[in-house]
Amino acid sequence: MLPSSPMTRHPDELPPQRKIELLDPLVANQIAAGEVVERPASVIKELVENSLDAGANYIQIRLKEGGRTLVQVIDNGYGLDGASAKLAFLRHATSKLRTAEELMGIATFGFRGEALASILAVANVTLTSRRADMDVGVRLTGGGAVALREEPAGCPVGTDIQVADLFFNVPARQKFLRTAATELGQILRFVDALALARPDLHLTVHHNDRKVADYPADPDLMRRTHAVLGANVAARLYPLADDYEYQVRGLLSEPGLHHGGPGQLTLLVNGRHVADRTLQHAVISAYGTLLERGRYPIGVLAVDCPEGTVDVNVHPAKTEVRFVQSQAVFASVVRAIRGMLAGTPWVKEPLAERLPVPPGTPTTPRDVATWQPMREQLPSAWRPSAVQPYRPTQPSFSGVADSGQPPLPEAQPEATTYSGLRYVGQIGKCFLVCETADAFVLIDQHAAHERVLFEQFVQRARTSGYAMQQLLIPQTIPLIPVEVAALDEAAELLAPLGFVIEAAGQRAVRVRAQPAILRDRDVAAEVRALAVSLTQGGRGAGTLETLERAAATLACHAAWRAGDTMMPDDVQRLLREMEGVDLSAYCPHGRPVVFRANWSEVGRWFGRP
Ligand code: ADP
Ligand code: MG
Repeated sequence: MLPSSPMTRHPDELPPQRKIELLDPLVANQIAAGEVVERPASVIKELVENSLDAGANYIQIRLKEGGRTLVQVIDNGYGLDGASAKLAFLRHATSKLRTAEELMGIATFGFRGEALASILAVANVTLTSRRADMDVGVRLTGGGAVALREEPAGCPVGTDIQVADLFFNVPARQKFLRTAATELGQILRFVDALALARPDLHLTVHHNDRKVADYPADPDLMRRTHAVLGANVAARLYPLADDYEYQVRGLLSEPGLHHGGPGQLTLLVNGRHVADRTLQHAVISAYGTLLERGRYPIGVLAVDCPEGTVDVNVHPAKTEVRFVQSQAVFASVVRAIRGMLAGTPWVKEPLAERLPVPPGTPTTPRDVATWQPMREQLPSAWRPSAVQPYRPTQPSFSGVADSGQPPLPEAQPEATTYSGLRYVGQIGKCFLVCETADAFVLIDQHAAHERVLFEQFVQRARTSGYAMQQLLIPQTIPLIPVEVAALDEAAELLAPLGFVIEAAGQRAVRVRAQPAILRDRDVAAEVRALAVSLTQGGRGAGTLETLERAAATLACHAAWRAGDTMMPDDVQRLLREMEGVDLSAYCPHGRPVVFRANWSEVGRWFGRP
C-alpha cells in the first residue's frame, strides 16, 4: 500500500458533508429581504416606488410605531387584477423589464421583481386592489410561510397594501430595528426627498393616526421647496440650470448654509433619488473652499442622462447608479454649480483663483448688487422637456381631493438690526419684548444667547481661541472610559474653546482651564455634558462636527436660561451681540430664536382693518 499523502485526510477528521440543494423559496426571499427591505423606510420606498410605477399621483402612507407594527401605502394607480396580484408576489415577477438590454433605458423605479416577494417573506401582508376596468377588487392576505389567500373586495381603483409586523419571523433582523422615532425619521426623510423630486405628487403621512406630513400637489418647485425645507432654508437656495453636456438642474444653498452630512442634499438622476458618491463629490468640489471640509450644501440637484449612459442596476435598493462617463457627469455638475456660484455675492473676483472656472461658464458674473434668489430663473421642473418622463401604460386616476394651496411663505425674512430695537421688557422670565417703527419682535432669551455663543465659540476656536480661565486647583472628574477617551481624543479641539482637559487614568479627566464665560458654573457638570455630547458623535465624527457639538453644548450651558431675570444692560449687550449673527441659520437645537410680526399683521390679529 502506498503511503498516503500528507494532503489526504481521514473522512472522520472532516466535518460532515451536506448535499447541495436549491434554497427553499421562502428562505431565498428572506435572504433577499435583508438587502431590499432592511427597515420600515425601505419597505416604504419599495411600496411607494411601485405606486409611482403604477402611475399614482396621490399616495397616502399610514404608519404605526414608526412602521414596525404597520406600514400601509394607498395609491390611486392603475391597480391589479387577482391573477397579476398573485404573480406580483413571486420572486423575479415584474411587469417592467423583459430583456437585459432594456436595463440601460429603464424608466421605472422597479425592475428586479424582488420587493413584494421579499416583503411577503418577512411580514404579514394584505393587498387590496382594483383596476378601473373591473367592478370588483381583490384582496390577498398572507405572510411568511403562510400561503396567500384570495377573496373579492369592494374597494376604490388603485392599490392599498398593508405590511404588518415586519420581521415577525426573523428575530435576528427585528433586533436591528431602532426606536419608532428613528424609523419614522428615516421614512420622513424619504418622503421629503420624494416631495422635492416630484412636486406633482400629493403625499400624506399619518403616524399612529396623526397626520405628520401633507404635501398637496403643487407644480411650483419653489413653493414645494418652501413646503418641504421651510421658508428659512428656501430663502437661501439658488437656482441653477445648465445644459452643456448633461442637463443639470437644481436649487442649492448659498455657501453659508450647510449640513454635516449629505442627508439634506437630494440628488436625482433621471428623476430617481440616489445617494451617489460621484455626484456628492462633484457638488463638494464645485463649492471648493467656500465650504468647510465635511460640510454639504442643502437643496436639490437633478441630473438627466440620455438613455444608455447610466446603469441603475448596481445596488439591490437601487440607491446607487453607475455612469458610463462619470468624468463628464462630474464636470457638468461642477460647471453648473460654479455657474450659479459665480453670480452670487459670495464669489466675487478674488475667488476666481480659488474656483478655476470650467469652460463655457458665463464670464461676466451677474451684477452682484442686484443678485438674489431669482424666482423667474427657477426651472419649471427638474427634468428638462427634452427628456420624456416615464408615463405609465395603464393610467387610471381616481379623483384626487383638491386641498387648497398651502400659504406661500415670504421669500426673504425681513432683515432686523437687533441693536436698533427698542427694548420694552422681559415677559415670562424668558422672552424679550421689543419693537421697531413697523414691527413687533419677540426674542427667546435662551435661544438667542445660545445661538450667539455658539457662533462665538466656533468662530474664535478657529481664530484667536476663546478666552480661558485657569483653575487654581485642577479638578479631577470621574467619568466612564468611553467618555474619557472621547474627551482625550478631542483635547486639541477643546483647547481653543477654552477647555484644557487631559485623561487622568481610564476613568477620570483632569481639567486645568475652562472657558471664561463658564466662570460661575459647575465645571464638573459642563464636562459631563460635553462627554455625553461627544460620545454621541460616534466614531470618526469629523473635526468640525466634533467642534460644533462641543460648542453647542457649551453654548447651551453658558447661555441665559429661561427663568433668569435679565437687566436692561444685559439685554442691550445681547442685542448687540446678535447683530451679525445669522439667526435664521440652524440654531444649535434647531429651534426658532426670534419671532417678528409687522404691526399690520398684529392689527389683523385683533380684526383691525
Ligand atoms: P418590481 O417593482 O421590481 O417590478 P415588485 O416586487 O416591487 O417588483 O412588484 C412586482 C410587480 O407587481 C410590479 O412589476 C407591478 O407590476 C406590480 N405592482 C406592485 N405594486 C403595485 C401597485 N401599487 N400598483 C400596481 N401594480 C403593482
Ligand atoms: Mg417594485
